[in-house]
Amino acid sequence: MPVSKSKAEYDIPGLSQYVPIPKIEPDKMAHSQPFVAKPEHQESVGYPGELVDDWHDKAIDKMGELLGKYRSLQVFMDICTKCGACTDKCHYYLGTADPKNMPVARQDLMRSVYRRYFTLPGKFFPKLVGARDLTKDVLDEWHSYYHQCSECRRCSVFCPYGIDTAEVTMAGREILSSVGYGAKYSNEIVGKVHKIGNNLGLPGPALLDTLEGLTEDCEDEIGIAVPFPLDKVGAEVLLITPSADFFAEPHVDGLIGYGKVFHEAGIDWTISSYASEAANFGLFIGSYDNMQQVAQRVRQASEDLQVKRIVVGECGHAWRVAYSFWNTLAGPFDYLDANYPVPQHICELTYDLLQAGEITLDPRRNAGKVLTFHDSCNVARGSRMGDKPGGQFTIPRALIQAACEDFVDMSPNTIHEKTFCCGGGGGLLTDDLMEVRVKGAMPRMQALHEVIEHDGVTHVAAICAICKTQFAKTLPYFDIGMEMVISVHQLVGNALVMQGEVLEEEQSDV
Ligand code: SF4
Ligand code: SF4
Repeated sequence: MPVSKSKAEYDIPGLSQYVPIPKIEPDKMAHSQPFVAKPEHQESVGYPGELVDDWHDKAIDKMGELLGKYRSLQVFMDICTKCGACTDKCHYYLGTADPKNMPVARQDLMRSVYRRYFTLPGKFFPKLVGARDLTKDVLDEWHSYYHQCSECRRCSVFCPYGIDTAEVTMAGREILSSVGYGAKYSNEIVGKVHKIGNNLGLPGPALLDTLEGLTEDCEDEIGIAVPFPLDKVGAEVLLITPSADFFAEPHVDGLIGYGKVFHEAGIDWTISSYASEAANFGLFIGSYDNMQQVAQRVRQASEDLQVKRIVVGECGHAWRVAYSFWNTLAGPFDYLDANYPVPQHICELTYDLLQAGEITLDPRRNAGKVLTFHDSCNVARGSRMGDKPGGQFTIPRALIQAACEDFVDMSPNTIHEKTFCCGGGGGLLTDDLMEVRVKGAMPRMQALHEVIEHDGVTHVAAICAICKTQFAKTLPYFDIGMEMVISVHQLVGNALVMQGEVLEEEQSDV
């Protein structure tokens, strides 16, 4: 059964005027563990079903393989000077006070083992250099603390050497999976994508039914049967979007917004039932092979449907994988229209249409809303958008400000490349990790609470399915209403002036 505890039982950190640096409480979160993947979930992503007998040797071999394959990992193991600049930059340390959630300490969980088996001083004088054997206790510690890192990369912004703890976490998780000790949540999901095409295991007929329902909803709302096509061969655009967009609020309102934009701009588009998922949890489990298999489904769908462009919906890590890695994983995409970026973000597409005067937004249609924007980690620190540096920050904000009259940013130390993770990224969005999710959300909640109190903010917009889900679940723990989470394209869809539309007040006049 998923763990679901009350607010009081979690010892939730309170919100104050600023985020205090907590006094350390060693092993405070040592009990936090994700559910171990079942044999069928392990095997569906190419790993042994359960902890193998020779796990020690296999883990060391795997570490050696990763050190050889990823030069960055080897460098990260060697160059940390223990300067301490990263120690108070992780939301999980700030929210839990557990020193093993300091980024440098998280790295040291692996670095100490690396020293023991891969350096001469560690082999001969382990105690002198902080080297330790890989024991079952150490493996358990990895299982716990490498699932208290959302791979958000905030710490790397502040490290003078650019050490990326997210890469260390990914290596730790890959080693764990490779010896039969993976986490249920991510491994099960990747297996579903391999089998069915999306994280939810939603089959084609159910998807078709859902999309037809959205067309009916639009007809009821604005008098236009906005199409949400599935598997349309020869469409111009293939939309790859997180499967959360197909059913859950506030995600689905974002999908309705994309559909309205495509329709109003006269863009022929489609979704694929074969690749109906933008999310790529292969990134979270640190598995290049799984990440590649998921990306190759997208390429296959684009070829089968003979589209000219690929557009990615509102999903943070999916955009990072698409923007930064698709070309290596599944490219080159030289059969697509070279006049458009491959891939293109839905915000970029809408922004370009707006700039070209091909669509019109009326911000009065979002009257009464005061917006702020949460920069999602993988968009902010792992990718870009548009053709200007910083486009990943300016483009979503430009859309919000075109769609809504009132906008205010959160504190400068918590936005753009310094954004705080929502607390649920990196494969942590599961009920068995609820405690660390809630505690890790605290720094973001503090900044949000500040603009609610001082600026009357009513809504926080995001362009990531994980952030939206995490906020909806954790906001109530901080006495903030979950209904304040909104998709950027819901705002756009609300404000879009459409030819032939019949507005609600006009409908009631008929
Ligand atoms: S990557 Fe993010 S979650 Fe992981 S240690 Fe760094 S700041 Fe913390
Ligand atoms: S900021 Fe970089 S060099 Fe300094 S302790 Fe952290 S990881 Fe090591």
